[in-house]
Amino acid sequence: MPYCRHRCSYCDFFSSAENHEFGRFAKRIAEETAQAAVWWQELAHSRVVDTVFFGGGTPSLLSVPWRAAILDALSRNLTWGEGVEVTLETNPETVDTAFVDSLLESGVNRLSLGVQSFSQEFLDRLDRRCRPESVFEATRLIRASGWKNWSLDLIMGIPGQSAEDLKEDLETALALEPTHMSVYTLTLKPGHILYKDLPDEDLSADLFELARDTLAANGFRQYEISNFAKPGFECRHNLLYWSGSDFLGLGPSAASRYFAGGVFHHRKQVADLNRYFSQKDVREVAFESTTREQAVLEAAFLELRKDDGIDCGDFRRRFGVDLRHGSRVGDLASDGLLETVGERLWLTDRGRLLADSVAPALVGA
Ligand code: SF4
Repeated sequence: MPYCRHRCSYCDFFSSAENHEFGRFAKRIAEETAQAAVWWQELAHSRVVDTVFFGGGTPSLLSVPWRAAILDALSRNLTWGEGVEVTLETNPETVDTAFVDSLLESGVNRLSLGVQSFSQEFLDRLDRRCRPESVFEATRLIRASGWKNWSLDLIMGIPGQSAEDLKEDLETALALEPTHMSVYTLTLKPGHILYKDLPDEDLSADLFELARDTLAANGFRQYEISNFAKPGFECRHNLLYWSGSDFLGLGPSAASRYFAGGVFHHRKQVADLNRYFSQKDVREVAFESTTREQAVLEAAFLELRKDDGIDCGDFRRRFGVDLRHGSRVGDLASDGLLETVGERLWLTDRGRLLADSVAPALVGA
């Protein structure tokens, strides 16, 4: 979804705060879906949909008819699997009674609410236009309508944010009783005005441990480095992504990936609205293939993010690489970064703090 009401200064996602053309966009997505579905079947050999994720941008700006038109195009051109999970990323200030009432009717069954912080000071620092009061009102409406499958997203590591500040955000979030929480570390590009004020490694590690321990004490399982869920409320879409499954992205700048021939094939749709609207054929933007080594590193990197880590037997079948029997596993285990039992291998709590360096070390990249 390429539109937002306002561009937040820290955000790296493609979106425009001007010239919102929702009807034109929904129509274009429907055309793109029809073309992409045929191409996708040739490449990835499947049209079965397990999950749909409306990401953005601000997908909750789409009014019901446009949202329904997009879901209709998906279900006409692709094969709907059993119990498809349909997530809509939602900004709190776009939630009202009509919005909540329309969700199930239009096929959405999971919400992801972008809160980031309950502190007006930190929201201002991130240049977000959302106010804490909108979050309380949005969650009141969501809960009053009996929704259970919803996530609340926070950001940690905002310049100036102390452990006490993060604890306050976590406790406020928990009081709203979400069944899923994402807690992401703020990342900024070097030229950003706040870049030099990002927390150092020690404070980042303290914040990470605080989030993990606070959420664990409240019944949330850290099923991925930044994601926590009550039992049964893990995001299936995210789990498929981290397991190396195929996904088809639609809309400007959307990424797609499929696995074939022992390597991944990636494609990023044009990150330009004019070019997107005038594109005649989705095949104008080709897939690019990784090397075998890049695919192994990508899979290890993604799968290690999950709490149940890597199934080495499955990894061997897909890539012909036996991770269990390399000397590197022994070294990483004796450094307290990895644990192994049988065919399974996963990061320890300490390993999660250093996840970005463990995957390359594991595959010898
Ligand atoms: S609302 Fe979300 S997607 Fe849009 S600019 Fe802000 S952070 Fe980025």
